[in-house]
Amino acid sequence: MRFFTTGLLLCIGCLPASALAQPKASAPRLIVAVSVDQFSGDLFTEYRSRFSQGMKRLLDGVVFPNGYQSHAATETCPGHATILTGSYPSRTGIIANYWLDYRAPRTDKQVYCVEDESAAGTDHDQYVPSLVHLRTPTLGDRLKAVSPRSRVVSVAGKDRSALLMGGHAIDQTWFWQDDRFATLPGRTANAAADRINKDLAARIARGLPAPKLPAFCQGRPGLSEALPGAGEAPVTLAALKPGDTASMPLRIELNEATTDLAIALSDQMALGQGEMPDMLTIGLSATDYTGHAYGTEGAEMCAQVMALDGMIKRLFDHLEAKGVPYMFVLTADHGGHDLAERNKQHGIPDDTRYDLTYGLASLNAAMGYADQPVFRGDDPRYPIIFGNLYLDHSITGSERSTLIERAKAWLKAQPIFADAFTRSELLVAKPPKAPPETWTLLERAAASVDAERSGDLVALLAPRVSPIPAPEQYGARATHGSPWDYDRRVPILFYGTGLKGFEQPNSIEVVDIMPTLASLIDLPVPAEEIDGRCRDILRGQASNCPTAR
Ligand code: ZN
Repeated sequence: MRFFTTGLLLCIGCLPASALAQPKASAPRLIVAVSVDQFSGDLFTEYRSRFSQGMKRLLDGVVFPNGYQSHAATETCPGHATILTGSYPSRTGIIANYWLDYRAPRTDKQVYCVEDESAAGTDHDQYVPSLVHLRTPTLGDRLKAVSPRSRVVSVAGKDRSALLMGGHAIDQTWFWQDDRFATLPGRTANAAADRINKDLAARIARGLPAPKLPAFCQGRPGLSEALPGAGEAPVTLAALKPGDTASMPLRIELNEATTDLAIALSDQMALGQGEMPDMLTIGLSATDYTGHAYGTEGAEMCAQVMALDGMIKRLFDHLEAKGVPYMFVLTADHGGHDLAERNKQHGIPDDTRYDLTYGLASLNAAMGYADQPVFRGDDPRYPIIFGNLYLDHSITGSERSTLIERAKAWLKAQPIFADAFTRSELLVAKPPKAPPETWTLLERAAASVDAERSGDLVALLAPRVSPIPAPEQYGARATHGSPWDYDRRVPILFYGTGLKGFEQPNSIEVVDIMPTLASLIDLPVPAEEIDGRCRDILRGQASNCPTAR
């Protein structure tokens, strides 16, 4: 069952036929789902005692400090797609940020997760944003299918976050693109978005002050301590030079403007004040850009994380001013891992960067194709092996299967890789129902495999190996994307009208969020259509979850 480009056509049979019943007076009228990009379980643990505003309020709600993005490919696209579909990448089809598709109807075979590669004149960089690749409905899609008067609004610093959390039937979607908040092609202008864009453009033109750092953030090591040669004042902590729009993704102001836009659209559309529940999804992206540029454990990320406190407070103030029941959930698309250099300085001597001795060139040479490489990653610019590996489609028959098996054996023999699997192996392996921290690497990788989009092989790096061979080599110094828990573990925090708090230290999964939210608005979700399970977030005897069918 596939979606089509119209954006409103939902798969027949996926959705219950009956309309959503009139909600109970106590049921949420507005569901707000926030993804803080790269907000790992480790960052949550590190900062939770420091919060004093909105984030502190979340600690009084239902706290799952050990949420899991259970799959191996812990990237932004797969991670955002799981949050509100209740499904692993193996079901959503969003298996990575990019994949290779030799059937793509254009010269560039690299495909971005939220683009329509059939659009003329495009490539993976100059693309038309679209949700054609998402194979499953989001909570918003399911809601609108049975309650067409419900509204779904999504905003984010990245198009992939806004589109993959919002879904096919988004009423309003806005994301940072070409130095402003933009929407999908063909959609009309919006007065609230215009106003936020205009205000922000004027502020950027004047320049922005350096953020006021909490005292304990000032004490954190900055980039220059970890990498004395870096030589660049971190954009996250400095004043913004007048007109420097290019630095906006690294700045707290991007997340603040995203929050402003969410509130402005919510006011404009009177979200939560209609007869049926509405949905608002928010993707805060500047945390991720800062993590990539400066690592996770410095003053830069400290500033980003602490700034969330005020933004989440403003969202709560807004929700309470509406005076309607709401449910709020905050999580992340993936975790993150600090700079290898700082990890070495901070007690982890074996943390390291990718050694190109084990790169794509070595694999191709070992296979006898040194001059005409046949194995590629998902990005032609990168000489590394990280995740999906594609064998050229010109190689067929027994030569193809032999080469794949030989390459797998080579990968398994190199110390930089923890393991390697063929796509065929992953397609027969199924993600288990066991707690996600107990999953094998095969099971983690099986949760992010797709018959059409995955590579012929999936190679997983050993723990504590950064896939960036040298700082700044690919425009980043630190990253995520591994199958290890520093990249998989994220907080899942619920807070809502009348919800009594508790903390559950045992693990749950990010795919559990959607069926849990659906249960709160009595929206039926057939268990066989998703991977997640409803979690009882009501204290005491009552349960929000439907009884097992
Ligand atoms: Zn991300």
